[in-house]
Amino acid sequence: MTGDVFLHSKSQEINLFPMATNRTFTMIKPDATGAGKTGKIIDRIIGAGFTIKAMKWTQLSMDDAAAFYAVHKERPFFGELTEYMTSAPIVAAILEKDNAVADFRTLIGATNPAEAAPGTIRADFAESIAANAVHGSDSDENAAIEGAFFFSARELA
Ligand code: UDP
Ligand code: MG
Repeated sequence: MTGDVFLHSKSQEINLFPMATNRTFTMIKPDATGAGKTGKIIDRIIGAGFTIKAMKWTQLSMDDAAAFYAVHKERPFFGELTEYMTSAPIVAAILEKDNAVADFRTLIGATNPAEAAPGTIRADFAESIAANAVHGSDSDENAAIEGAFFFSARELA
């Protein structure tokens, strides 16, 4: 993380993610929560050295999914992705570890589980390129934005 992320308003300035340099954001996706894989995936995450700083079980509305994945709104898979992500509960979490963003991307493997390295979470738990078990932020900046989408400033402290 090159700098802290602030939410600006007329009356206040809140540091949303004060320790973001070593944090990432994840979701355990509907295919995994629905198939009873949540506990096993959390075990993998903790076993790889990540500390859970915040976690919640929730379900996305279509508005939530469209906002979270707005960066993909022109992609051909956007409709399928938002339908899928709203189809069942997800688990959102903030994780902490040195080099969290890059190390978590390594732990989860490639987007397409058929191409994910052996032993990665997607290789072992994902159903398909869409239903691929877990989300992992792709940058410190997006980790901060995505974490703040689900968690309050108090929960992120
Ligand atoms: N996705 C999909 N079809 C594709 C590519 C992506 O359904 O061809 C879904 C998949 O669930 C993926 C998400 O869209 O995790 C976001 O895509 P991205 O390229 O950011 O992959 P990620 O960062 O999750 O590996
Ligand atoms: Mg991505």
